Amino acid sequence: MTATQSASTYDDINPATGEVIAQVPESTHDDLDRAVRAARTAFDGGKWSQMAASRRAKIVNKMAQLIAERANDLMLMEVRDNGKAISTAKGEMGAIVDCFEFYAGAATKNYGETMPPPLPTYLANTVREPVGVVGAIIPWNFPLLLASWKVAPALAAGCTVVLKPAPSTPLTALELGKIALEAGVPEGVLNVVTGSGRDLGQWLVEHPLVDKIAFTGSTATGKLVAKTAAETIKRVTLELGGKSPSIVFDDANLDAAVAAAIYGIYYNAGQACEARSRVLVQKSIYDRFVASFVERARNVRVGDPEDPQTQVGAITLPEQFEKIRSYCEIGASEGARVLLGGERAKLDGRNAGGMFWSVTAYEAAPDARIAREEIFGPVVTFVPFADEAEAIALANASEYGLSASVWSENIGRANRVARALRSGTVAINTPYAVFPGVPFGGYKQSGYGRELGMETMKLYSETKSVLTFIGEKPMNPFGV
Ligand code: NAP
Ligand code: MG
Repeated sequence: MTATQSASTYDDINPATGEVIAQVPESTHDDLDRAVRAARTAFDGGKWSQMAASRRAKIVNKMAQLIAERANDLMLMEVRDNGKAISTAKGEMGAIVDCFEFYAGAATKNYGETMPPPLPTYLANTVREPVGVVGAIIPWNFPLLLASWKVAPALAAGCTVVLKPAPSTPLTALELGKIALEAGVPEGVLNVVTGSGRDLGQWLVEHPLVDKIAFTGSTATGKLVAKTAAETIKRVTLELGGKSPSIVFDDANLDAAVAAAIYGIYYNAGQACEARSRVLVQKSIYDRFVASFVERARNVRVGDPEDPQTQVGAITLPEQFEKIRSYCEIGASEGARVLLGGERAKLDGRNAGGMFWSVTAYEAAPDARIAREEIFGPVVTFVPFADEAEAIALANASEYGLSASVWSENIGRANRVARALRSGTVAINTPYAVFPGVPFGGYKQSGYGRELGMETMKLYSETKSVLTFIGEKPMNPFGV
């Protein structure tokens, strides 16, 4: 980890109370450059990149242990930095430990291949080598979780990393840097840069000594990242936005589908890339489904993030709060029918100054902006459909393709629809769930490349082909 040389700091705010909770270093261009050079030197020195994979595995596993030991502190830090409900943060801590453990195991399984001899006198094989210095850029909605999705596989593959958290939620990334050192990751292998400007990420993507950018954020920024990275032919993986549908057929288990639809949009206050922000319901059960959703969603507990009973915490950023507010206004101007919420949730006591939004639901035309654009808040739109073909057409009529759910007790239909969806993940008859061994990522403008799963190890590796001549008579193609 590199210390900033910059003297200036900025206020880090708890969005649930408005309190300043930390002063965070405002890294300069020089700080960023030093972090990248530290990562480059560490990579080229080979202490980490050439270390026996089994030893790297032990160190990554040690990081998992240290995170598990400190889960309570990290959880509270995340809650105060981000405003999320502590019940949500608790689940994330378990997932973060699982992610580091999974990639500790993956470190020793990043296999190359041996090809059938291309000629009898040749051996041909591939080896997977770490891709080099990785610039990891993450958003504010799941700060430590999304950092772990990049840092764990990158370290396991032997890469070195410069991690840039979002300026509003930098605290757990800084802790991760300390944990890495404590676990035995050598100096310079994991570097964390914090800052409030829009420049740090841009500089990281431009930097000629960085080999790969692993980016999670909005589709608009993702496009800019891809363009900038093209200048230096960096490898890029992009995890971007979504407008993920739940499709509910009339033969679904309605009780389970309603519960999942509520969780699917209000989890993390809707600030989740895979949030099921469109619920498509077959006409024959539409009224019943929507009535049940509204009735049950009224029981969702929006409140103080530090109260263990709370299910929906604060909106993390003032800009995000404003975006949600303005989409609700757009919904009203587009003639969408408000089914629930649609306004600020007012809390009292220590949360009086916090930013909370009520759980909100609309019925809207499929081409309404609130039914097409990513809002990234606790706002869902319902759209009715007639049959399977229309459900598929509506679900796929989106520039995004991150995730989707299908609810039907007919396994043929559920799997037919899953196959027809242009989506990186399809969940059948389950609320969405993410596991370290299962790849996660988008089709279309939701990005490219994947996080999690074994295939991610390839994305932090280069493939080197090694050709060995084993004939008795040396080659002399020119006969000279
Ligand atoms: P964002 O504005 O795109 O920012 C994401 C990160 O990129 C931040 O660290 C940001 O730092 C940085 N950044 C900004 N401009 C940059 C540039 N020119 N070059 C390099 N980096 C730059 O996204 P956000 O609002 O924080 O996050 C919400 C979005 O993330 C949503 O669209 C959501 O769907 C998506 N998301 C996707 C996934 C997934 O796995 N697919 C997961 C979570 C979130 P600054 O804040 O300093 O600008
Ligand atoms: Mg904060």
